[in-house]
Amino acid sequence: MNTVTEHRAATRVLVLNSGSSSLKYQLLDMRDAGRLAVGLVERIGEQTSRLRHTCVATGGTRELNGPMADHDAALKAVAGELARDGLGLDSPELAAIGHRVVHGGMFFTEPTVVDDAVLTEIERLIPVAPLHNPANLTGLRTAMALRPDLPQVAVFDTAFHTTMPESAARYAIDTKIADRHRVRRYGFHGTSHAYVSRETARLLGKAPDEVNVIVLHLGNGASASAVRGGRCVDTSMGLTPLEGLVMGTRSGDLDPAVIFHLQRVGGMSTDEIDTLLNKRSGLFGLCGDNDMREIRRRIDEGDEAAQLAFDIYIHRLKKYIGAYYAVLGSVDAVAFTAGVGENAAPVREAALAGLEGLGLAVDPARNAVRGDGARIISPRDARVAVAVVPTDEELEIATQTFALVGKDD
Ligand code: AMP
Repeated sequence: MNTVTEHRAATRVLVLNSGSSSLKYQLLDMRDAGRLAVGLVERIGEQTSRLRHTCVATGGTRELNGPMADHDAALKAVAGELARDGLGLDSPELAAIGHRVVHGGMFFTEPTVVDDAVLTEIERLIPVAPLHNPANLTGLRTAMALRPDLPQVAVFDTAFHTTMPESAARYAIDTKIADRHRVRRYGFHGTSHAYVSRETARLLGKAPDEVNVIVLHLGNGASASAVRGGRCVDTSMGLTPLEGLVMGTRSGDLDPAVIFHLQRVGGMSTDEIDTLLNKRSGLFGLCGDNDMREIRRRIDEGDEAAQLAFDIYIHRLKKYIGAYYAVLGSVDAVAFTAGVGENAAPVREAALAGLEGLGLAVDPARNAVRGDGARIISPRDARVAVAVVPTDEELEIATQTFALVGKDD
């Protein structure tokens, strides 16, 4: 043991979330799960790239504008900003880099230290995640090149859902064709569902394995999950994040024959239908807005299209709550999370309206309270707790990463 210089364990984790033209990051200290720095690079590959970096200790935010050709340039710029705050990537206090990877298929059931074989497997999954996995791979390769000596951990959006039974994970199509093309239900937002179901148990003063929770992750993308004793038994997204709930711009569930119909009768190409269902559907397709704040404002002004979009959104949500109630048999809590779930009291109220027979209700006064923390919004004597539980995917990625590589020495 070194008695001369102060001994410091490596307790920091850098979390990277790489999109096709963006890079979000947070540096956390796992001693207290506190943020040291947060930031975002946008428009990577364009002339107008922008890095916004905040050092939490000083509260200072800096902006860097100018072309960043690729993720390598972006990450180097981030490293530079971190270094200016004394938080450089060469610090011995950095224990690992944790990466969000959207699709881990059936292969990755746990967070995984990345090596060449892992990169190859993530690459093999590109056909089922063409939008996300290439960007995640770019982020991984870039960070590995910058700090080859440091553990790089992939945390998969799909991993939490790999506990789903085959009865929930399989589509009812020819098994041989499904297996050949890896067609099955994988689910997404897994780090959020894992974190929120655990935090909900904590809010109830129970261990995760003692409770059954329905988690409603309602952001721009939206998904529901049924979690029995800490393990996911069903979730609403499928092969891709298109299945399930009505989302900001995605349709969620529809009759698959709608696609043949649009091809045969509508003369649309596969790519056009892909764009329609992923980018021009959902709330946006129904009323021209995908932001729930704007939709509520329009409803208050008597806008019928906004009202119908809201009603369709709620109808689908209610169907999933009922379905997952049946899947679980008994439910201890329903937890609302993400941008809409955490902030939109009218959505929470409408989603549970009329479900008193299932023991589900929101207390209007509790539901109306605005707050940052996890909170119960059901009446005091309710059979099932209804909760608002802010999600924290970065903290979950950092926690899982640190659990894998962190050691107190
Ligand atoms: P997320 O994907 O979790 O960041 O959620 C983004 C979405 O949350 C936005 O598109 C909004 O529709 C919604 N949102 C954020 N704040 C509010 C709010 N105060 N009221 C209603 N919806 C909100």
